[in-house]
Amino acid sequence: MKAVYFEQHGGTDVLKYGERPVPEISENEVMVRLKAASVNHLDIWVRQGMPAIPIALPHISGCEGSGIVESVGSSVHNVHPGDCVIVAPGIPCGRCRFCASGWDSACPEYRMVGFQADGCFAEFVKAPVTNIIPISKKFSFEEWASVPLVFLTAWHMLITRAELKPGETVLVQAAGSGIGIAAIQVARTAGARVVATAGTDEKLKKARALGAHEGINYKREDVAKRVLEITEGRGADIVFEHVGPETWESSMKSLSKLGRVVTCGATSGPKIEIDLRFLFMRQTSILGSYMGGRAELDRVLELFRLGELKPVVDKTFPLKETREAQEYMLERKNFGKIVVRI
Ligand SMILES: [Zn+2]
Repeated sequence: MKAVYFEQHGGTDVLKYGERPVPEISENEVMVRLKAASVNHLDIWVRQGMPAIPIALPHISGCEGSGIVESVGSSVHNVHPGDCVIVAPGIPCGRCRFCASGWDSACPEYRMVGFQADGCFAEFVKAPVTNIIPISKKFSFEEWASVPLVFLTAWHMLITRAELKPGETVLVQAAGSGIGIAAIQVARTAGARVVATAGTDEKLKKARALGAHEGINYKREDVAKRVLEITEGRGADIVFEHVGPETWESSMKSLSKLGRVVTCGATSGPKIEIDLRFLFMRQTSILGSYMGGRAELDRVLELFRLGELKPVVDKTFPLKETREAQEYMLERKNFGKIVVRI
């Protein structure tokens, strides 16, 4: 099958487009003929290599995709060849105490499609049957492929970890990113006042059209000062972080007393500085968040069926241009998700 893969870690130049063997499924697995796969920052971390988490090489990235079921294992009876489906990214063990309580991504054996297993930048992918979710014709394959990872992550961050309440103010940093467009919509749907930051007025216009109440151009304006003005001096109840050192200071300064900053990423680097005096005196909570549980994903997908949430695809690339798709994301040109067509 055609696939985009790498045989060694490195920059985008290690990505190769060529032939890889079609995966073989076991009795509880499903093989999907992919139509689309979505690009995520995790693809870049995996490609660059993480010393603590070695992966088998050659490797095919791509944490999520959509397509048509090609074949099913002998124990699979509720999914059939020809079904239109998405491939959800998280693979928990399903047996441990975390899995039993819905905290799939805390599972010690938690793996991800495209990370610890071969992923969706290919003509075929295999996944456990529990990762295969039927989709309607309401959205295109490209749109469906863009949904699971960022919307699940944003939901887990805002609803599960930060326990967002209606009427609270949420500051969404870098709102034009794939995760940003999910955060705006999840926060808005949950009844929050949404303040979005972005580096261009064009992106802020789009963020407002998507549900943000206020927009701050971080290149031109002092983010924390503007948040205090918007909230009449109180600050944001929740700051949605995924950038790291570039935004951390403005995130902390934008928080209200008893505020929560919730983070799922470090696209500008892994280390930040914290002034403990402000942390304890302002009674700030810093919450880490990673992916989410299958039950949360089902809730998110229900909101897509109801029309409360919608996919935002900025641009699509053909499979063989996955390298260009990753470079486009690194240049931060996008508003919304970047998708590869297969
Ligand atoms: Zn588990």
